[in-house]
Amino acid sequence: SSWFDQARFIPPDAIFALTAKYVADSFPQKVNLGQGTYRDANGQPWVLPSVNKAREQLLANGLNHEYLPILGLADFRNATAKLVLGSDLYSQRQSQVATCQSLSGTGSLHLAGLLLRACHGQPKVYIPSPTWSNHHQVFGSLGFPCETFKYYDPETRDLDVESYYSMLDNAEPNSIVIIHACAHNPTGCDPSKEQWKEIARRMKERQLFPLFDSAYLGFNSGNLDEDAYPIRLFIGEMEMEAGVCVSFAKNMGLYGERVGCFLLATHTGQAATNTQSMLEMLQRSEVSNPPGFGAKIASQLLGSEELKQMWYADMVTMSDRIRSMRKALYENLLALETPGSWDHLIRQSGMFGFLGLSPEVVVKLRVTPNTMSPAISISEEPMDIDTIKWCEHTEMLHIRR
Ligand code: PLP
Repeated sequence: SSWFDQARFIPPDAIFALTAKYVADSFPQKVNLGQGTYRDANGQPWVLPSVNKAREQLLANGLNHEYLPILGLADFRNATAKLVLGSDLYSQRQSQVATCQSLSGTGSLHLAGLLLRACHGQPKVYIPSPTWSNHHQVFGSLGFPCETFKYYDPETRDLDVESYYSMLDNAEPNSIVIIHACAHNPTGCDPSKEQWKEIARRMKERQLFPLFDSAYLGFNSGNLDEDAYPIRLFIGEMEMEAGVCVSFAKNMGLYGERVGCFLLATHTGQAATNTQSMLEMLQRSEVSNPPGFGAKIASQLLGSEELKQMWYADMVTMSDRIRSMRKALYENLLALETPGSWDHLIRQSGMFGFLGLSPEVVVKLRVTPNTMSPAISISEEPMDIDTIKWCEHTEMLHIRR
């Protein structure tokens, strides 16, 4: 017997499990469309030239490996707040904003959850469906009751804004709503500016707390200010309190360095001071000190006008390439006279392409790896229908040509 006889076996995370299978597959023309990581024209990870230069400068200046403060690197936190809010709003509201460096976007969401739980108990958390799967795990593991709302309409293959509004109109006051700031994962469908205004108005009226998951700023359109529109609308024009969970994994390509920041825009300087002190205490008990290397790179980059301009150009490179890949897929599907309509592929934006296939089609496309059958392999394990849907949603497609 073992102390751990009660332990249950938890199946591996679907996306990472698929990546492991992809790595093990010897087929030379394999393509991994699972994990959301940018690849260059040779299918290789891309170290951004701006990031490379920032790293070289850091190394040339002499890098040490001391602990960072519990809240993280102050220059990095301040530069992140200024970047996300924009210079004008930042200079007006700086004293009402609490910040804490985090373990990338995931750690930021978790930190936000810890703070909200400490201040408000466990209100409902409304999560769009579909969404990035970890939202349910992060907030569920903290004991929040998670409710989903319909975000996507499979018929129109677009945002279902009426369902969104109806959820907001009926949500329990003082609940939390998870908002993808841009480049919704996995549908690629974001509200228009007019729809964002309506969403903000209804949330304010119903006293709902907006928690932005901001993992793709600048990566979506290539213009960070454009992508930050809803965040600045809610906090600036609408004068709402809001949390913003920022990740630099995608837009700086710092995936494994775990560079993120949680920002909380409050209404008073006192609330900002107090919540920041709580974040410090919460961080202390979990990670003690956040990792230094990636935050130092990001800080070096954000602190130099020259490197920042290079970075903006790098984000244009990445978002342009994603757009051109999307267009090429669309044009090839048309050229091959693939049944169905595919306009949604070029309407969507961001890293994810949502094919909109039915679960039945996905099952048909599934093949066993290491056979020469053409098509797409998803998984060898038997999956229930929800998992299959999820596979389709996240485009966990491992294509064999
Ligand atoms: N939020 C969304 C919507 C994502 O797609 C991701 C990563 O894929 C994250 C958050 C968090 O990523 P990380 O923890 O690597 O910053």
